[in-house]
Amino acid sequence: EPGFAGRTERLASPATIAMAVRARALRAQGHQVLSLALGEPDFATPPAVIEAAHRAALDGQTKYPPVDGTPALKAAIARKFARENGLTYAPAELMVSNGGKQVIFNAFMATIDAGDEIVIPAPYWVSYPLAARLFGGVPVFADCREEDGFRLSAAALEAAITPRTRWVVLNFPSNPTGAVMTLADLEAIADVLRRHPRIWILSDEIYEHLVFDGARHHSIAAVAPDLTSRVLTLNGVSKSYAMTGWRVGYAGGPERLIRMMTRVQGNATSGVCSISQAAAAAALDGPAELIAEMRDTYARRRTMVVEALRAIPGVTCAMPQGAFYAYPGIAACLGRTSRGGRMLTTDEDFALALLDEQHVACVHGSAFGKGPYLRLSCATDDETLREACARIAAFVDGLV
Ligand code: PLP
Repeated sequence: EPGFAGRTERLASPATIAMAVRARALRAQGHQVLSLALGEPDFATPPAVIEAAHRAALDGQTKYPPVDGTPALKAAIARKFARENGLTYAPAELMVSNGGKQVIFNAFMATIDAGDEIVIPAPYWVSYPLAARLFGGVPVFADCREEDGFRLSAAALEAAITPRTRWVVLNFPSNPTGAVMTLADLEAIADVLRRHPRIWILSDEIYEHLVFDGARHHSIAAVAPDLTSRVLTLNGVSKSYAMTGWRVGYAGGPERLIRMMTRVQGNATSGVCSISQAAAAAALDGPAELIAEMRDTYARRRTMVVEALRAIPGVTCAMPQGAFYAYPGIAACLGRTSRGGRMLTTDEDFALALLDEQHVACVHGSAFGKGPYLRLSCATDDETLREACARIAAFVDGLV
């Protein structure tokens, strides 16, 4: 039969999606499955944003848009970066893609040759190593320790850099740990990066608005303006505005990198859906209170979940300062057997047995490069979260 390209061997399906598929199969069998596996806001897109999309479609904004984004959205993005991040980008330094995911794909395709190393703080969002490998890149992980609040230390970064390093990825607030870097943390990271002038820096700031307890998000390009000629600042409307399905992400960066990324995208998908771009512009220019409301809800849920998890003997849990995940440690649960007779050797065994026996879907930490932990998404309603924690407690209680 016709075969596949060699590179597809490196094209694994993310564990997050695999877990969601398995949960769906159990649900189809009639089980009431609680899904904490996906990082998808449970809020609806703000009505004013939907109305802007409707108006754009009726106004005839239904033709091919420019590959790098509509002038109106790029202007809104420039205002957003200036207002919220203290960053100044000219139109030629901005581009719009089909989600933040395509920003990463464009950037890596434009820059990575076989054997190039991509430094990724671990635990990490799965798409960075998967995209890097697709282009022949070699992920190198910089460990973020729980004792450090899962923040990246300058020492861990320095140790991961070699003459082959092409990119350093920063993702704070972090998916999956919710870690937020302080200003001092970022200054120390900038000092390391200054010593390595041939490295691109990807700062994925998609969770920037979801920071709690007075924590503040800082953009590396604003903390270290002398690095901006190498920094690609990634953001998008998926998480901040509950717009995952609209597929709008964007990036600011040096003109020559943006130009090459635009060329990549022009050969793949062309410009992002014109109607979605009009919606995203309305979201970025819209009232900030909507974001604050969602943020406060996530903060409250996070506290509820972390406290419920901490009450379970054998489970530990750091209090995340951002994003919408909890990342409990389950080391004390391993080496034991579940009520259903499953031996739990790894956190993946735990997650699979929890799904099969208690119908709670989450993702094991080792899928994000650091076990034994679980990642629970708190982007769902209180009742589901409460019930999920009760089922996890029951599952752990049944271990012998
Ligand atoms: N970056 C991080 C850390 C994410 O968790 C996600 C989504 O899960 C994205 C980027 C990309 O989101 P989108 O492609 O919807 O913009």
